[in-house]
Order: sequence, then structure tokens, then C-alpha cells
Amino acid sequence: TGEENQTRIVKDFVNRLFNSVQIHNPNEWEFQQAVKEVLDSLIPVLEKNPLYINQAVLERMIEPERMITFRVPWVDDKGNVKVNRGYRVQFSSAIGPYKGGLRFHPSVNASIIKFLGFEQIFKNSLTGQPIGGGKGGSDFDPKGKSDLEIMRFCQSFMTELSRHIGPDVDVPAGDIGVGAKEIGYMFGQYKKIKGAYEAGVLTGKGIGYGGSLGRKEATGYGTVYFVEEMLKDQGLGFKDSTVVVSGSGNVSIYAMEKAIQFGAKVVACSDSSGYIYDQNGINLDTVKQLKEVKNARISEYIKEHQDAIYQEGCSGIWTIPCDIALPCATQNELSQEAATMLVSNGVKAVGEGANMPSTQEAVNTFIAHNVLFAPAKAANAGGVAVSALEMAQNSSRLAWTLEEVDMKLQGIMKDIYSKSMKASKDYDAPGNLVVGANIAGFLKVAEAMIDQGII
Ligand code: GLU
Repeated sequence: TGEENQTRIVKDFVNRLFNSVQIHNPNEWEFQQAVKEVLDSLIPVLEKNPLYINQAVLERMIEPERMITFRVPWVDDKGNVKVNRGYRVQFSSAIGPYKGGLRFHPSVNASIIKFLGFEQIFKNSLTGQPIGGGKGGSDFDPKGKSDLEIMRFCQSFMTELSRHIGPDVDVPAGDIGVGAKEIGYMFGQYKKIKGAYEAGVLTGKGIGYGGSLGRKEATGYGTVYFVEEMLKDQGLGFKDSTVVVSGSGNVSIYAMEKAIQFGAKVVACSDSSGYIYDQNGINLDTVKQLKEVKNARISEYIKEHQDAIYQEGCSGIWTIPCDIALPCATQNELSQEAATMLVSNGVKAVGEGANMPSTQEAVNTFIAHNVLFAPAKAANAGGVAVSALEMAQNSSRLAWTLEEVDMKLQGIMKDIYSKSMKASKDYDAPGNLVVGANIAGFLKVAEAMIDQGII
């Protein structure tokens, strides 16, 4: 029939497009993985709207507008000169200035930055805020570095980055390895170079000099708001549930905090060395003290809580039975094996606080077993959403109250949930939020691109 024929034509198109992505981005596995998921989700959209194919919307979307790589030389405390690689991908400016975090981690390379930047296009679109997609970072490892080393590195990084960004051009923020301290050093250097106070050039700033209340908590809180909304739709909730949260950084800590406020018991969290399991419920004050103040390893937790246990290695955390799993550490931290284990232990919902923490096989496993699954693009969009609110405050020279920001964040997360759910229903994948989020995020960007002509 004509319809089957159309489906075949679109599938062939998507396959050819993905082949070309593989050819033009060799060995960039994370980037390829992120693109593949989006392309597959969009098949029903392309069937209904051939315009997107004719206008080469996808070919344009998968090619960054610009990818900048640069040298970052700095001097360590012993006087040795070190060199790291710096990156900024300016992926899409269809709906606003490029927006996305900076990641400082030894694993950072072009593939990681491009996968994150690509995801950011759709995530940012879902927030309903006027922000395009970008991402950046460096393979610099902040672990074990002194404050002065971090400052010198941030200054050198910004010396080059400053020529590519601006409040109406590209607005970086934090990600793994970049918090308020690093943003502060980079903002200071940017200001010195420009000779002007352009507060909106970076988000995640300290509260005293243009930062927004609630930004630090936004990604973690937002993830829990989103998952609560998803659970509510099924007559469930965080209340009285058992939760496992990987990671113990900014996203993880505030996901745990909100889950606990919602009446859940969080029994485990982790860092890059291992995980802790506390059957009495994680004591968040201890975790905050270790991670936000002392810069210590999570293993130290058991010194203060004798009932808790510590295990080396991170993937074992998914063997702990729970109702809700929130992977909030890093990409591909949750494998098919882990997903199968979670499913056989009766997990009801999974919410991705990190970016692409579940492998493609893990996602398929959850969906095949009807586990409620909240994909990163939708579930962790709260961070960048509040970054957009920070930009709004900066350009109006106002500072909103925490209550104001939190109310807006809750509204945005609910809206992302209903948009994604609606798109999943409109395109014959009811309840599949992976498909729904990709489609809802895509449509707004695609319309803007078509309206603006071939650029
Ligand atoms: N790094 C965060 C993310 O993955 C936040 C980006 C931002 O605030 O610009 O969305």
C-alpha cells in the first residue's frame, strides 16, 4: 500500500542518513548513539511531513553550526607547563543563543562534546525557553588539583573561549567538573577581557553576582518533579518508595533531597570509585559534607554510619532492589545487564538525571518490560531551564525569589511531561517518552529552521 511504501522510503532515508553520520564522524560512538536514537524516533514525523526531508532539516541539524577546538596551556603549582584540549560545539541557534554546559573531565573528547551538544538542542527546545543547543569542555581533570591550579586553568580556558561567546551569542554553564567555583573564575576572566559586566554570558554564577536562586538544585529537583508527574499519571508517587540514585555530584544530591522531601527512602548513591548502601536511608547531610565541603570520597560515609556498606565499582549499585532508579552520574553508566537486574528486582520507574546514562539496550529493556522511563532530554532539562531563567533575570537586572524560581521550574517540568506524552500519543507510541520527547523537542526547532530559510 501507499502507506507501507512511504514508511519504507522514510526508513531508507534514515538509514542512509545514519550511514553518512558514521562516515563523517568516525569513532565518535557517543555522538552516533545520540543521533541514532533521535533519527529512529523521528520516523513517524518524517512520514507525516515530507517537508522535513525536502528541506534537509535533519541533515542540517546533525551538522554542528560550528565546532571550536583550542589549546589550553596552564602552569601547575610546581611551575610545570601543562596543555589540555578545549572544546565548544555551537550546534544549533534556531531558537536562541547556543546554550549548554562545560564539562571538565579526562574522558572529554569531540564525541562526548558533540553528543552532549546534540542532546542539548532538543532538551533546550523542550524547556519552552528561547535557547539553542551547545556544549563545551576540556579533558582537564579537576580531581586532585589545588584551587590555584583550577583558577589558572579556568582563566586560560576563558582567554580563548571569550572570543566565541556572549550573552546573545553563546551562554555556557556548568556540567561534570564545573560548578559555581569554576564559573566564578571564568566569569572573572571574561569580564576582565571584555571590560564590561555582561552577567548573562554564563549561568550557574554565585548568587551574589548574578546567579539565580534555585539553579544549583534545579537539575536534581527537576528530575524528581518530572518523575513524580510520570508516576502520578499511573496513580503512583515517590511517597514510601525505595530509591537508588547513582552519582553524588550536583544532580544526584538534589535529586536525593527532593525524593526524600517527597517521602521516599533513598538507600544508595555512588561516586566514580564505588557506591554506598544504607538500609536506614542515606543521610544527606553526611553526603553533602563529604562532597560539597570536604571534597572527599563517598567511601568515607561508612565511617559515620556503621550500618551502611561500601562497595568498590559503580555498576553494582543497580543490583540493589528499588522501586525507582535515578541514574545521575554519567553517560552509559547503566548497561543492559543492569537494566535486566533492575527489572527482575521489580523497578517501576527510571528517571535519567545524567545525560544518556542508559545504553540503548538498557532503554529497550525498560520499555519492553513496561517500566516507566523518563529520558534525560526531558527529565534533566530543569538545570538548563533555570539557566534560561537566570539569563532572563540578568537581562532585566532583577533577582527573583527562590519560591518564584521553583514554581516556574515545577511548571516547566510538568509542561515537558505533558508535551512529551502528547507527542508520543500523536505519533503512535503512546507512553513512550523517549519518542515523545525527541519529537516534541524536534518540532519546535524544525519549524524555526524552515521559517528562517536555508542557513
Ligand atoms: N549541563 C547541564 C545540562 O546538561 C546544564 C546546562 C546549562 O545550564 O546550560 O543540561
